[in-house]
Amino acid sequence: MSLEKSQNFEAMEKLRLEVKNCRKCDLWRHRRNPVLGDGNINASIVFIGEAPGYWEDVKGLPFVGAAGKLLDEILGKAGIKRSEVYITNIVKCRPPENRDPNEREIEACHTYLDRQLNLIKPEIIVTLGRHSTSYIFSKAGIKFTSISEVQGKIYRAKFLGMNVYVIASYHPAAALYNIKLRGEIEKAIKLINEVKSELEKH
Ligand code: URA
Ligand code: SF4
Repeated sequence: MSLEKSQNFEAMEKLRLEVKNCRKCDLWRHRRNPVLGDGNINASIVFIGEAPGYWEDVKGLPFVGAAGKLLDEILGKAGIKRSEVYITNIVKCRPPENRDPNEREIEACHTYLDRQLNLIKPEIIVTLGRHSTSYIFSKAGIKFTSISEVQGKIYRAKFLGMNVYVIASYHPAAALYNIKLRGEIEKAIKLINEVKSELEKH
C-alpha cells in the first residue's frame, strides 16, 4: 500500500472511532451501531444516501436492507461493481422509526461526510434522495429546486475544492413499490458510465 493510501485508511479508521463515540446529536441514544460507510476508500465514485435504517443499524453497514438490495440490483444492471464505489450516508446514526433526518441532525453530522469525501476525493458523487442531494448541491453551489427536477442529470461542480461530477437520483427506498421511479433511478445510475467514459478521454 502506498503511504498516502495507508494514511487514508488510518484516517478513515480514526473517523470510525469518532463516530462510534459521537454524541453531537440525540440520534446516538437510539443507535445500536453507527454506520460510517463501506466500500473502496480509493474509489472514484461515492454514493450518498440519507441515514441508516433498521438493518443498517443492526449490521453497522450502509444499504444492507431492502433498499440496499434494490441498489445492488440497479448497480449490477448498469455494470458497476461494488468494488468501484464507496457508499455512505449524510447522517451516521439511525433516526427512530426510520424517519427522515432533520436539519439539526444533518448540521451536527455533515462534517463526518465532508471529511470522508476529503479523504476519498471522488470524481463522481451520486446523491440518493432529497436530503443528500440538497446538502451536496448547496455545498457545490448548484441550485437545488426539487429532487424530481434535478435527478437524472449530470452536473459539473467544485466541491470542497475538488472538481467533481454530481448525479442526483431518487432514493431507492422510494422505488421499492414504485416501478416508474425505479426506471428513473436506473437511468440516473447509468449516467455514471457516461461520466466514466468522459473521464477516460482526459
Ligand atoms: N437508506 C439510506 O439512505 N441509507 C442506508 O444506508 C439505508 C437505507
Ligand atoms: Fe454524531 Fe452523526 Fe450520530 Fe448524530 S447522527 S450522534 S452527529 S454520528
